[in-house]
Amino acid sequence: MPPADTDTDKAQRHRARMQRQKAVVDAAIARADKNKGLLLILTGNGKGKSSSAFGMAARALGHSMRVGVAQFIKGRSDTGEEAFFRQHHNIIWHVLGEGFTWDTQDLTRDRETAQRGWAVVQTMLRDPSIDLLILDELTYPLKFGWLDVNAILADLQNRPAMQHVVITGRAAPDVLCQAADTVTEMRDVKHAFQSGIQAQAGIDY
Ligand code: ATP
Ligand code: MG
Repeated sequence: MPPADTDTDKAQRHRARMQRQKAVVDAAIARADKNKGLLLILTGNGKGKSSSAFGMAARALGHSMRVGVAQFIKGRSDTGEEAFFRQHHNIIWHVLGEGFTWDTQDLTRDRETAQRGWAVVQTMLRDPSIDLLILDELTYPLKFGWLDVNAILADLQNRPAMQHVVITGRAAPDVLCQAADTVTEMRDVKHAFQSGIQAQAGIDY
């Protein structure tokens, strides 16, 4: 019969495993020696896209970085994030969209609104003092054809080298995902709204 596995054996094996894992992680960290402004996409049907983007805004402000926000679809005007971040001197907050297309029901107006909005974004994409730019719900004007994805991609590619850009919204176009450095797809496992629960302050808005 093999000798019983003592707690000391287990602790030693655990330590050895952790040491091997640390070596792998340290090597990966050492290999990642490049620095650049990132393009991040947060897409998918699950909850968490905009709130993740605003989490990065908080991080960036904490590092005394300057943040620009452009909101393309204005679902509601009473969000906690807007109330909170607008108080901060280092953030510029632009509401560029109106409602969803089924609210406005005017395609020409929607297209013009989106184009005017993109012109505002272009000024931020040319401004190296903006360290992080959040383009919240940008995928919708792309999906509805109000903005041309290739034109937008060209502007993104010409931005200052160290400027980070985060794009949120469902159904991000493939070309945009291909050009991005980090793409996360939120998967909808379940959402309280589907059980008839209203949007909750602090969680949903
Ligand atoms: P959040 O702003 O909470 O991070 P989001 O940006 O991922 O959400 P949006 O499509 O922009 O998602 O929708 C914003 C609102 O819709 C939020 O109130 C959010 O809770 C809600 N929502 C998000 N995903 C779902 C879903 N799968 N089913 C129902 N409601 C959702
Ligand atoms: Mg959102």
